[in-house]
Amino acid sequence: MQARQQGLPALEARMLMECVLKQTPAWLVAHDNEALSEAEATAYQTLCQRRLGGEPLAYILGWREFYGRQFKVNPAVLIPRPETELLVDLALEKLTAKFRSAQPFHVLDLGTGSGAIAITLALEAAARNLPVVVSASDISASALAVARQNAMTLGANINFIESHWWQAIPKQSFDLILSNPPYIEANDPHLNQGDLRFEPAHALTDQADGLSAYRALCAGLGAYLAPGGWVLFEHGYDQAAAVQALLQAQNLQSVQTWPDLAGIPRISGGQSACE
Ligand code: GLN
Repeated sequence: MQARQQGLPALEARMLMECVLKQTPAWLVAHDNEALSEAEATAYQTLCQRRLGGEPLAYILGWREFYGRQFKVNPAVLIPRPETELLVDLALEKLTAKFRSAQPFHVLDLGTGSGAIAITLALEAAARNLPVVVSASDISASALAVARQNAMTLGANINFIESHWWQAIPKQSFDLILSNPPYIEANDPHLNQGDLRFEPAHALTDQADGLSAYRALCAGLGAYLAPGGWVLFEHGYDQAAAVQALLQAQNLQSVQTWPDLAGIPRISGGQSACE
C-alpha cells in the first residue's frame, strides 16, 4: 500500500492511508506492495482532497495525540497543541510540590475543549499517586460531549460543568486553576490561516484585544483560589507582561512566566498567599 503523496507531506499521506485502511503504521510498511481496492482508493483520494483543501489533519482523522494519548477531536473543539503539554507539566510540578497529605487536591480547568489538559492531568496525577479531584468546564455543550467521550475512553474521572467561565462553577476553593483560553486578538491575520480557519472561533479569539478571557478568569480568583493555591494560564507569544499584570492585580505571589520548547513565553502563573 504505497501512500502516494498527492502533493501532501509523506507523513500526512501515510496517516490518511492508515485511516482509510484502519491499520497501524507497521502493517502499512509490511503490506507495501499490495494494491488498494477501488473503494479504498476512492476513499483515500477523498481524504487527500479534503486535506489539500486545507481541512486540519486532526479533524479528518478524528483524533490528535497529546501527551502520548489519542484525543478525539471534531470541529467543536480546538485541536490540542504540543506547547500546551507544558501547562500539564507545570501543573504536575505544582501539585507535587504541594503534596503533604492524603487530602485530594481540587483542580479546575476552565474552557477545557477536548478535555486534553484536565484528562491528562488526572491520569498523570494518578500515575504519580497524587490524589486529585479534577473539574473541567466549557461554555460549549458540544465541546463537553467530546471531552466526556475522551474522559470515558481514556479512563479519567472528571467532573464536567457547562459554564461561561465562573458563571456556573459551584462555590468551592481550588488548589490549582488552569486555563488555555481564547487569546488571539480580533483581526489577527493568523485566524485566516492554516488549521485556525476550521477551528471554533470562540476557542481562539475573544473578538477583542486577546486579554478579555484573562480578565474574566482573574476576576474569579479571589472567590475560587484556595490559600496557597496556584493559577496557571497559557497565553500568546506577546502577552506575558499583560497576563502577569492581571495576576499581580489579584495580589498573587511568585508571579512568573515559563517559556515553551520553542523558547516562547507561553505560561504565566502565580500563587495565592498562604493563610
Ligand atoms: N495556540 C493557539 C494558536 O495560536 C491558540 C489557542 C488559544 O487561543 N488558546 O494557534
